[in-house]
Amino acid sequence: NLPGKVALITGSTSGIGLSVAKKLASQGVHIGLNGFAKPEEISAIRKEIENQFKVKTFYHGADLKEGPQVKSMVQETSKALGNVDILVNNAGIQYIESAVNFPEQKFNDIIAINLTAAFLTTKYTLPQMLDKNWGRIINIASVHGLVASVNKCAYVAAKHGIVGLTKATALEVAKTGVTINAVCPGWVMTKLIETQIQQRADQYKISFEEAQIKLLEEKQPSVTPVQIEQLGDLITFLCSDSASQIKGSAYTMDGGWTAQ
Ligand code: NAD
Repeated sequence: NLPGKVALITGSTSGIGLSVAKKLASQGVHIGLNGFAKPEEISAIRKEIENQFKVKTFYHGADLKEGPQVKSMVQETSKALGNVDILVNNAGIQYIESAVNFPEQKFNDIIAINLTAAFLTTKYTLPQMLDKNWGRIINIASVHGLVASVNKCAYVAAKHGIVGLTKATALEVAKTGVTINAVCPGWVMTKLIETQIQQRADQYKISFEEAQIKLLEEKQPSVTPVQIEQLGDLITFLCSDSASQIKGSAYTMDGGWTAQ
């Protein structure tokens, strides 16, 4: 059911978002990219996807902290590729600090990027999906949408928020062909967690590998990171017709983190 459909994937210049973009492109989906990267990196990503998968791509550099830019990203992507059928709200940032010392601006930025932007993209793409009576919105939450960890108050608040947004919006369109779900990964090997591993390695004066095992052991019973391709497969499944009755769910892929 996917060839010729149009996906908009926020934060798709690296990590999970880029992997999902490639996976959907491999199914014949035209890809709207977003996120920060050097112009030459963006054109290399676009060329690779277009040449390998023979689909169209479009890039919009919206800073998702800025509401009007989110709106123009949706408008311009639809103009370039056609109405959005699949929306993957993936962009997210992290900041680690106690609530007492948490910079207020940082808190607001995390809520804006990790939560409010997903509300806005949903608001602007849903009418297009409802017109066709088919659509998929997949919100990349986190285990931190279901449970908390210390020193991540903004991230945990935003991720719990996006699970709530997923449920509320899924109910609004439950009778239609549009489904809205969240995905809740545990540790996935990307830049976002490499930074956290490196910080630990520096703090405890241990190797990157030792720091990685320590980080995983604390929370993820499998002591194995989730591979970005595995998330891409889950998201592709959620886009399939087999998943048409999965609505408002929060799917974990976390090596057992939230089973404890
Ligand atoms: P990443 O840092 O590799 O990618 C983040 C993407 O978001 C990049 O493309 C970046 O340019 C973009 N981005 C950041 N700020 C932006 C802004 N203001 N406007 C537009 N784009 C912006 O991180 P990742 O690990 O691939 O994370 C992707 C998503 O998965 C995030 O929502 C993250 O919270 C979630 N997640 C990651 C993990 C993990 O272990 N890596 C676990 C659970 C959930």
